[in-house]
Amino acid sequence: MMREHAWHQRYPFNEQKQIYQNLVDLHLITESWIKSEDSIGMSYRIPPFEDSPLEDQWPEEFLVHVFNKVWGAQASFLAKNINSLQSFRSSCFKLGVECAQRRWPLQTKAGQQSLVSIYHSLFNSPLSGFPYRLGFLPRRLTAQEVQIELHACPHQLPLLPEVGKVADPLCDLHGEWIKGFVIALNSGIQFEQVAHQTKNSKTNQRCIQIWHLNHENKENKE
Ligand SMILES: [Zn+2]
Repeated sequence: MMREHAWHQRYPFNEQKQIYQNLVDLHLITESWIKSEDSIGMSYRIPPFEDSPLEDQWPEEFLVHVFNKVWGAQASFLAKNINSLQSFRSSCFKLGVECAQRRWPLQTKAGQQSLVSIYHSLFNSPLSGFPYRLGFLPRRLTAQEVQIELHACPHQLPLLPEVGKVADPLCDLHGEWIKGFVIALNSGIQFEQVAHQTKNSKTNQRCIQIWHLNHENKENKE
Protein backbone atom coordinates (compact mmCIF):
# COMPACT_ATOMS: atom_id res chain seq x y z
CA MET A 1 0.00 0.00 0.00
CA MET A 2 1.35 3.41 -0.96
CA ARG A 3 1.49 6.00 1.73
CA GLU A 4 3.00 9.39 2.19
CA HIS A 5 6.20 9.70 4.14
CA ALA A 6 7.51 12.58 6.13
CA TRP A 7 10.49 14.34 4.55
CA HIS A 8 12.98 12.97 7.09
CA GLN A 9 12.12 9.32 6.60
CA ARG A 10 14.83 7.31 4.97
CA TYR A 11 14.56 4.55 2.42
CA PRO A 12 16.69 1.54 1.66
CA PHE A 13 19.32 2.56 -0.80
CA ASN A 14 22.07 0.76 -2.62
CA GLU A 15 24.60 0.75 0.16
CA GLN A 16 22.16 -0.78 2.61
CA LYS A 17 21.09 -3.34 0.04
CA GLN A 18 24.74 -4.26 -0.47
CA ILE A 19 25.21 -4.70 3.27
CA TYR A 20 22.09 -6.86 3.32
CA GLN A 21 23.37 -8.92 0.37
CA ASN A 22 26.62 -9.45 2.24
CA LEU A 23 24.66 -10.80 5.20
CA VAL A 24 22.70 -13.11 2.90
CA ASP A 25 25.98 -14.46 1.50
CA LEU A 26 27.28 -14.96 5.03
CA HIS A 27 24.07 -16.82 5.84
CA LEU A 28 24.76 -19.17 2.89
CA ILE A 29 27.67 -20.55 4.91
CA THR A 30 25.36 -21.61 7.75
CA GLU A 31 22.82 -22.92 5.27
CA SER A 32 25.46 -25.11 3.62
CA TRP A 33 26.39 -26.57 7.04
CA ILE A 34 22.75 -27.22 7.90
CA LYS A 35 22.37 -29.14 4.64
CA SER A 36 25.41 -31.32 5.26
CA GLU A 37 24.36 -34.83 6.26
CA ASP A 38 26.09 -35.41 9.57
CA SER A 39 25.25 -32.13 11.25
CA ILE A 40 22.62 -31.56 13.91
CA GLY A 41 19.60 -29.92 12.27
CA MET A 42 18.45 -26.39 12.82
CA SER A 43 16.15 -24.22 10.80
CA TYR A 44 15.99 -20.48 10.64
CA ARG A 45 15.47 -17.88 8.01
CA ILE A 46 16.69 -14.37 7.69
CA PRO A 47 14.06 -11.70 7.14
CA PRO A 48 13.77 -10.59 3.48
CA PHE A 49 14.86 -7.02 2.90
CA GLU A 50 11.27 -6.16 1.94
CA ASP A 51 10.24 -7.09 5.50
CA SER A 52 12.30 -4.24 6.87
CA PRO A 53 9.79 -2.42 9.05
CA LEU A 54 10.66 0.97 7.68
CA GLU A 55 7.78 2.69 9.34
CA ASP A 56 8.99 1.82 12.82
CA GLN A 57 12.71 1.27 12.46
CA TRP A 58 15.54 2.82 10.55
CA PRO A 59 16.97 0.41 7.98
CA GLU A 60 20.24 0.43 9.96
CA GLU A 61 18.43 -1.05 12.92
CA PHE A 62 16.94 -3.71 10.69
CA LEU A 63 20.42 -4.51 9.35
CA VAL A 64 21.83 -4.74 12.88
CA HIS A 65 19.00 -7.15 13.70
CA VAL A 66 19.83 -9.30 10.64
CA PHE A 67 23.55 -9.08 11.38
CA ASN A 68 23.07 -10.35 14.94
CA LYS A 69 20.77 -13.09 13.74
CA VAL A 70 23.10 -14.33 10.99
CA TRP A 71 26.26 -14.25 13.12
CA GLY A 72 24.54 -15.64 16.21
CA ALA A 73 22.96 -18.55 14.30
CA GLN A 74 26.23 -19.36 12.54
CA ALA A 75 28.20 -19.44 15.79
CA SER A 76 25.55 -21.49 17.64
CA PHE A 77 25.31 -23.99 14.82
CA LEU A 78 29.08 -24.35 14.68
CA ALA A 79 29.27 -24.91 18.45
CA LYS A 80 26.73 -27.76 18.17
CA ASN A 81 28.49 -29.35 15.20
CA ILE A 82 32.12 -28.74 15.99
CA ASN A 83 32.95 -32.35 14.98
CA SER A 84 32.10 -31.50 11.37
CA LEU A 85 34.80 -28.84 11.17
CA GLN A 86 36.64 -30.48 8.30
CA SER A 87 33.61 -30.66 6.01
CA PHE A 88 32.65 -27.12 7.01
CA ARG A 89 36.09 -25.96 5.90
CA SER A 90 35.62 -27.29 2.39
CA SER A 91 32.13 -25.81 2.08
CA CYS A 92 33.47 -22.41 3.19
CA PHE A 93 36.21 -22.53 0.56
CA LYS A 94 33.67 -23.50 -2.12
CA LEU A 95 31.26 -20.70 -1.13
CA GLY A 96 34.09 -18.16 -1.24
CA VAL A 97 34.88 -19.29 -4.80
CA GLU A 98 31.20 -19.12 -5.79
CA CYS A 99 30.72 -15.65 -4.29
CA ALA A 100 33.70 -14.32 -6.27
CA GLN A 101 32.33 -15.97 -9.44
CA ARG A 102 28.89 -14.43 -8.90
CA ARG A 103 30.13 -10.94 -8.13
CA TRP A 104 33.13 -10.78 -10.44
CA PRO A 105 32.32 -13.14 -13.35
CA LEU A 106 34.78 -11.72 -15.89
CA GLN A 107 37.60 -11.37 -13.39
CA THR A 108 37.23 -14.94 -12.08
CA LYS A 109 37.16 -16.25 -15.64
CA ALA A 110 40.43 -14.49 -16.39
CA GLY A 111 41.78 -15.58 -12.99
CA GLN A 112 44.70 -13.17 -12.99
CA GLN A 113 43.58 -10.26 -10.86
CA SER A 114 46.32 -8.36 -9.11
CA LEU A 115 46.67 -8.71 -5.35
CA VAL A 116 45.78 -5.07 -4.84
CA SER A 117 42.57 -5.27 -6.88
CA ILE A 118 41.55 -8.46 -5.08
CA TYR A 119 42.05 -6.65 -1.79
CA HIS A 120 39.69 -3.94 -3.05
CA SER A 121 37.12 -6.54 -4.19
CA LEU A 122 37.11 -7.95 -0.69
CA PHE A 123 36.62 -4.54 0.85
CA ASN A 124 32.86 -4.80 0.31
CA SER A 125 32.15 -8.47 0.94
CA PRO A 126 30.37 -10.69 3.47
CA LEU A 127 33.35 -10.60 5.85
CA SER A 128 34.34 -6.96 5.43
CA GLY A 129 32.64 -5.79 8.60
CA PHE A 130 29.52 -3.94 9.53
CA PRO A 131 28.47 -1.20 9.86
CA TYR A 132 31.70 0.63 9.23
CA ARG A 133 33.43 -1.60 6.71
CA LEU A 134 36.81 -1.42 8.31
CA GLY A 135 37.15 -5.16 8.23
CA PHE A 136 40.52 -5.35 6.53
CA LEU A 137 43.32 -3.01 7.43
CA PRO A 138 46.30 -3.31 5.07
CA ARG A 139 49.73 -3.62 6.70
CA ARG A 140 51.37 -4.26 3.36
CA LEU A 141 49.85 -3.85 -0.08
CA THR A 142 52.21 -4.53 -3.00
CA ALA A 143 52.08 -6.35 -6.33
CA GLN A 144 53.74 -9.42 -4.71
CA GLU A 145 52.32 -9.48 -1.21
CA VAL A 146 49.32 -8.37 0.80
CA GLN A 147 49.25 -8.45 4.59
CA ILE A 148 45.99 -7.55 6.24
CA GLU A 149 44.80 -7.21 9.80
CA LEU A 150 41.32 -8.59 10.40
CA HIS A 151 39.26 -5.99 12.22
CA ALA A 152 35.88 -7.67 11.85
CA CYS A 153 36.82 -11.31 12.47
CA PRO A 154 35.03 -13.38 15.14
CA HIS A 155 37.70 -12.38 17.67
CA GLN A 156 36.60 -8.77 17.35
CA LEU A 157 32.88 -9.19 18.07
CA PRO A 158 32.68 -9.13 21.85
CA LEU A 159 29.00 -8.13 21.88
CA LEU A 160 27.92 -11.52 20.61
CA PRO A 161 28.86 -14.10 23.28
CA GLU A 162 27.95 -17.06 21.00
CA VAL A 163 30.60 -15.86 18.55
CA GLY A 164 33.21 -15.43 21.29
CA LYS A 165 32.82 -19.10 22.30
CA VAL A 166 33.81 -20.38 18.84
CA ALA A 167 36.03 -17.49 17.76
CA ASP A 168 39.07 -19.64 16.85
CA PRO A 169 37.31 -22.21 14.61
CA LEU A 170 34.95 -19.62 13.14
CA CYS A 171 37.84 -17.29 12.29
CA ASP A 172 39.57 -20.25 10.56
CA LEU A 173 36.42 -21.08 8.60
CA HIS A 174 35.96 -17.48 7.50
CA GLY A 175 39.63 -17.57 6.49
CA GLU A 176 38.80 -20.54 4.23
CA TRP A 177 35.97 -18.55 2.68
CA ILE A 178 38.32 -15.62 2.00
CA LYS A 179 40.91 -18.04 0.62
CA GLY A 180 38.32 -19.38 -1.86
CA PHE A 181 37.34 -15.85 -2.86
CA VAL A 182 40.96 -14.77 -3.36
CA ILE A 183 42.08 -17.89 -5.24
CA ALA A 184 39.04 -17.71 -7.55
CA LEU A 185 40.33 -14.32 -8.68
CA ASN A 186 43.94 -15.47 -9.02
CA SER A 187 44.88 -19.14 -8.71
CA GLY A 188 48.57 -18.22 -8.37
CA ILE A 189 48.15 -16.84 -4.86
CA GLN A 190 49.41 -18.58 -1.76
CA PHE A 191 47.32 -17.88 1.25
CA GLU A 192 48.35 -17.93 4.87
CA GLN A 193 46.37 -17.20 8.00
CA VAL A 194 48.63 -16.30 10.90
CA ALA A 195 47.82 -17.37 14.49
CA HIS A 196 44.69 -15.92 16.09
CA GLN A 197 44.73 -12.90 18.32
CA THR A 198 41.98 -12.55 20.86
CA LYS A 199 40.72 -9.01 21.36
CA ASN A 200 43.03 -7.40 23.87
CA SER A 201 43.08 -3.68 24.39
CA LYS A 202 46.60 -3.76 25.83
CA THR A 203 48.38 -5.35 22.90
CA ASN A 204 45.79 -4.32 20.29
CA GLN A 205 46.96 -7.19 18.08
CA ARG A 206 44.70 -8.64 15.38
CA CYS A 207 44.50 -11.83 13.37
CA ILE A 208 46.52 -11.48 10.20
CA GLN A 209 46.35 -12.90 6.69
CA ILE A 210 49.20 -12.93 4.22
CA TRP A 211 48.66 -13.55 0.53
CA HIS A 212 51.52 -13.71 -1.89
CA LEU A 213 52.11 -14.68 -5.46
CA ASN A 214 53.76 -18.06 -5.69
CA HIS A 215 57.14 -18.41 -7.30
CA GLU A 216 56.15 -19.68 -10.77
CA ASN A 217 53.50 -17.02 -11.03
CA LYS A 218 56.01 -14.31 -10.19
CA GLU A 219 58.33 -15.57 -12.92
CA ASN A 220 55.50 -15.49 -15.42
CA LYS A 221 54.60 -11.95 -14.55
CA GLU A 222 58.06 -10.43 -14.36
ZN1 LIG B 1 40.27 -13.67 14.21
